[in-house]
Amino acid sequence: MSVGIIGAGISGLTLAWELQQVGVDYQLFEASGQVGGYIQSERTGPYLRELGPNSLLGDQKLLDWLDNLGLTDDLEFAKPVSKVRYIFRDGQYRVLPSGPPSLVFGSYFSWRTKWAVFYELMFRECSNRTISPPGETLAQFFRRRFSDEIVDYALGPFVAGIYAGDPEQLLVSETFPILLQYERDYGSVLRGLIKNQSGERRQSFSFREGMQTLPRMLKTKLTHLSLNTPVTAFERLPTGQWQLTTSAGPSVFDTLVLATATEPAARLLQSAYPTVAGAIRKIEYPPMTAVHSAYKRADVKHALNGFGGLNPAKESRFCAGHIWSSSTFETRCPADEVLFTTFVGGKQGERPDQPNNAQQSDDVILGRVHAELAASFGISALAPVWRKLTRWERAIPQYDAHLSTTKPLIASLEPNNLFVCANWYGGVSLSDCIRKGRELGERLAGRE
Ligand SMILES: Cc1cc2nc3c(=O)[nH]c(=O)nc-3n(C[C@H](O)[C@H](O)[C@H](O)COP(=O)(O)OP(=O)(O)OC[C@H]3O[C@@H](n4cnc5c(N)ncnc54)[C@H](O)[C@@H]3O)c2cc1C
Repeated sequence: MSVGIIGAGISGLTLAWELQQVGVDYQLFEASGQVGGYIQSERTGPYLRELGPNSLLGDQKLLDWLDNLGLTDDLEFAKPVSKVRYIFRDGQYRVLPSGPPSLVFGSYFSWRTKWAVFYELMFRECSNRTISPPGETLAQFFRRRFSDEIVDYALGPFVAGIYAGDPEQLLVSETFPILLQYERDYGSVLRGLIKNQSGERRQSFSFREGMQTLPRMLKTKLTHLSLNTPVTAFERLPTGQWQLTTSAGPSVFDTLVLATATEPAARLLQSAYPTVAGAIRKIEYPPMTAVHSAYKRADVKHALNGFGGLNPAKESRFCAGHIWSSSTFETRCPADEVLFTTFVGGKQGERPDQPNNAQQSDDVILGRVHAELAASFGISALAPVWRKLTRWERAIPQYDAHLSTTKPLIASLEPNNLFVCANWYGGVSLSDCIRKGRELGERLAGRE
């Protein structure tokens, strides 16, 4: 069997590596001159910044996979302090409770919410074993089981951090299906979480020279990778095989895998599968702008003793949140400076009848980001000593009701040996993309 893979982001790279290891014939085509897609790290003198993903969250299985790639020595685990998360509330950043003592005795949540949490944990099973209705959003799920306050001041910022999304639109079944299972099996989400807490916790990590270390290593391993080779069309031959067109000419494969974002995938599917193309074209990707700002440590009052600060939508701030990159990882900036990574936009940046915050001019974004950092963290400097801005016009696909109805259409391609392996089908995080690439590799190898 031969497999043509279109797109060398982490999804396509992982799939190619899996196929290569089990001896399946493949060819990986990448439109640009580099691998990794959204994963891009840039070192400028003493500064190391991530233009896209900042870290990976993974278990031992993922660490073993990276070890097999020869990357163990390059790993950099997030410092323990990064477990502390701050949320903007009542005019300042406050620590989000991370366990029962800080939840019960702290003042972050109201007594009403504390009681709702206690009730969910202790009594839900006896009184109410509700099953989530189809199409329930994350906000509806958490409101039904806890409170509005949990949605606004815990879930919302958390979901904005992962999906750049709105919990009122993201579906619980598409984003955190495990919660539905806990509700069904234990009557209580919290009891489900506690009972299934394995001894082994997932860890957050990056690489000493940044996230792009991973795709670069995969690139050195792959024997059938064509860079600067965009696939411009494909068609099904009477034999049932697929013929791909690139600038290098046509090539024929038994199986085809789309590992690109939705827009290029829709263009390629348009003539053979217009309905599927139309549906995936409508998958929403809000824009996002990342701003990196470095300041002299001496000019910043805040201890920056955590992962960063997230802004709930309710607080109507300009930025979605700030990661304290130099608090989490080493060597991101000179020792006497601190580095912030600020995200602007996502669903939270939408304004009625106005461009998304992420689409404002560079001057507006840089000015608003500095003003918010200065006011929130006690920064006395008039400007950062170093800063850079990166725009993602289409940042992260939204796992909402539309994406949910599109899933069966995508699955209907598979009997024709046409598969999707990308962040808009089955999970958005890097660890999801790696897992899916590995699983599809195993499935395809099993067909040999
Ligand atoms: C700002 C930002 C921050 C993020 N932070 C995190 C994080 O901290 N942790 C985390 O786990 N995830 C994070 N994510 C999500 C994660 O980075 C992505 O979901 C993931 O990288 C997507 O990988 P992919 O391989 O599916 O797609 P992509 O990275 O989009 O790769 C697709 C590839 O296909 C190529 N291509 C397109 N058209 C063609 C064609 N016609 N022919 C050949 N090749 C083509 C493209 O050039 C590209 O290289 C973040 C995303 C963004 C935008």
